[in-house]
Amino acid sequence: METTKCLIIGSGPAGYTAAIYASRANLAPVLYEGNMPGGQLTITTEVENFPGYPEGIDGYEMMEQLRQQAARFGADLRNGAITSIDLAQRPFVAVTDGGDSIAAEAVIVATGASARYLGLDDEKRLQGRGVSACATCDGFFYRQKVVAVVGGGDSACEEATYLARLASKVYMIVRKDHLRASKVMQQRVFDTPNIEILFNTNTAGLIGDDKLTGAHLVRHKGTPQEEPFDIAIDGFFLAIGHTPNTAFLNGQLETDEAGYIITRGAGQATSVEGVFAAGDVADPHYQQAVTAAAMGCKAALDVEKFLLEADGK
Ligand code: NDP
Repeated sequence: METTKCLIIGSGPAGYTAAIYASRANLAPVLYEGNMPGGQLTITTEVENFPGYPEGIDGYEMMEQLRQQAARFGADLRNGAITSIDLAQRPFVAVTDGGDSIAAEAVIVATGASARYLGLDDEKRLQGRGVSACATCDGFFYRQKVVAVVGGGDSACEEATYLARLASKVYMIVRKDHLRASKVMQQRVFDTPNIEILFNTNTAGLIGDDKLTGAHLVRHKGTPQEEPFDIAIDGFFLAIGHTPNTAFLNGQLETDEAGYIITRGAGQATSVEGVFAAGDVADPHYQQAVTAAAMGCKAALDVEKFLLEADGK
């Protein structure tokens, strides 16, 4: 069976940065790019908040550059996903979607988290044309426009207050009659005059051919008071939570209640010695490209130290 010192799973900023550092440390890492090479940034429009790009950069192009940087130092970047891995003993054995097995002395899990969508057909059609799941990525394009945020949790409140500083008006579409967010976040929303909360409201569909122009909403859905109505909007932001991509781990790493991998100490170590986690899969809070890249760097340095100590035993 093929063996590698360092297996990196995932190809967002965390995975590629880990590959850059691991290659430069002569660990000859093997990286599986997964089902969505480049990760979530490839579906945003422009990245304007990653340091070093004063004019901003297209998300897809940025990931391609990161990929090339990893390849330049000799990282073995492969198409395909890891579908299962046995973490019971070292070397860990992973299986790819092509049916190959690979043994690894250390593993970095950098599989990211996927934003949850409502499941409307229109969401896919208008993705990047008014539909977004990241206010900090795309909010800037909605200056003086009207937008809506779906969700009533902390993320939705945070995104709504962020967008309210840019947009002329922000609707919050909340399916219950109250917000789930913490009191302090709720208060921030209530104190922002250009946010209007639409309680007891669900989204039935989106309006727009090439570009979003509005949404079909339903108040009191499924009750005698049910009332359909439309709003005119330029942006529709999903903030109904993220799902960390950990299914292939089959519960072998300790996670929090939402499924995010728990890391220990100052580094990226997980509950299994020799397995490290980096990026959004281990980060319910920040979920930024720059923080993911930083964690990828830390994870690779942690692997280097771990292998040195393991070999010395
Ligand atoms: P949450 O799970 O807390 O909230 C999700 C929200 O989306 C809820 O209001 C939920 O409604 C709504 N929702 C879910 N599915 C649907 C659907 N199909 N249709 C309509 N609405 C839907 O997720 P968050 O991302 O907001 O937060 C995740 C975690 O991160 C939380 O622990 C949160 O506290 C934390 N966080 C903390 C922040 C901070 O402290 N600054 C910032 C952001 C997140 P319902 O209430 O009806 O279930």
